[in-house]
Amino acid sequence: MPQPPHNALGVYISIPFCRSKCTYCNFASGVYPASEHTRYVDRLIEDMRRSHAWAAQMGVDLPRTVDTVYLGGGTPSLLEPHLIERLFAALRVEFNLTADAEVTVECAPAQIADATLVALVESGVNRVSLGVQSFIDREAHSSGRLHNRAAVLSDLERLRSAGITNLNIDLIAGLAGQTFASWDESLAVLLDTGIPHASIYMLEVDEDSRLGREMLAGGARYHAELVPSDDAIARMYETALDRLTASGPGASLAQYEISNFSRPGLASLHNLRYWQRRPYLGLGLDASSMLLDSESAYALRSKTADDLKAYLEDTESPETAWLSPDRRHEEAWFLGLRMNSGVDAAALAAEFGRTRVAPALEVANRLAHDGLLVKDEGHIRLTPRGRLLSNDVFQEFLSLEADESEARPPVFESALESRN
Ligand code: SF4
Repeated sequence: MPQPPHNALGVYISIPFCRSKCTYCNFASGVYPASEHTRYVDRLIEDMRRSHAWAAQMGVDLPRTVDTVYLGGGTPSLLEPHLIERLFAALRVEFNLTADAEVTVECAPAQIADATLVALVESGVNRVSLGVQSFIDREAHSSGRLHNRAAVLSDLERLRSAGITNLNIDLIAGLAGQTFASWDESLAVLLDTGIPHASIYMLEVDEDSRLGREMLAGGARYHAELVPSDDAIARMYETALDRLTASGPGASLAQYEISNFSRPGLASLHNLRYWQRRPYLGLGLDASSMLLDSESAYALRSKTADDLKAYLEDTESPETAWLSPDRRHEEAWFLGLRMNSGVDAAALAAEFGRTRVAPALEVANRLAHDGLLVKDEGHIRLTPRGRLLSNDVFQEFLSLEADESEARPPVFESALESRN
């Protein structure tokens, strides 16, 4: 896959409001009164206005041209129509959206009001991602979702009638009560919809979700005892891979990333930019940015507050960390390997130097010998087994060259001085 240019920006906008909290959710989202929506959008617009001065102060490039926008969360479709319109109008004042920009909004099925749909279309939204997770009503319900299968099918029809045909459905393998038969049924319904993009996630069990905490504590609330085993979840993922990519009527999605499948030309351009290391600006609660400094070869990562009160009252500055060329090279491996197109070793050598890339190639050779990576036509990719063990594979590329002295930011202080 050719690398698009780095001189355009992606903007991610976090909308942390939900109507109910799903049991498996580990995002900084919650159920807040609608009265907070206006204050939140006011703060977002203020952040947009300040972003150029902030980037200049930090000494990083913030392109004005924007070619992808992603409203995630949370449930952005819960924002009142006039707030959606205000947000996009402000974005267009601060940035130049390209005529063909991909503009995605995450929506919860059964929670897209008619007036909201009109506001989305009029604001230029051309892609919608639906958090379906399961087409089996009892699984969706026991996970805290508020929709059923009929509502999802009806929303797909409404979105298509409104002219939004670039659609994604998220499914999760590993929901409480899921069986191989019910997972197969969810996949069959997904394929029946003719959806051009699907994201298949494996349930994450961690301290950040109610279900995860319950499972780690060995309890039974939230149907924790009905969550399939790790082995079963891995097999469900493999089934999804087989079903979605099989040739034949209704299928023929192609996998382009560990969790993502699309019809030709309909991969998510915004999500691709994370793995292709293209710059993005995150606005709102718990939002990450990655911006480049063309003068120093360093990159800046930053993350905003994850507490709504702190965000609204503007009491916390974003956390920032500089990425040295060594760190960026590490990232190039573990982000690049996520994609089916893999890592182009020659391109990395041209970008980071042969000396830096050589030890990583030795790691890649060892992992290829173990059957986790494959090398063809100069590209290094995960094998199907490598995809299942991807976290272990990525770990091998971390701290390859732990030159901590390079991680300090003296370059930035001098770059900053020269700009002020
Ligand atoms: S709708 Fe999404 S963000 Fe909201 S609680 Fe459910 S999983 Fe979390």
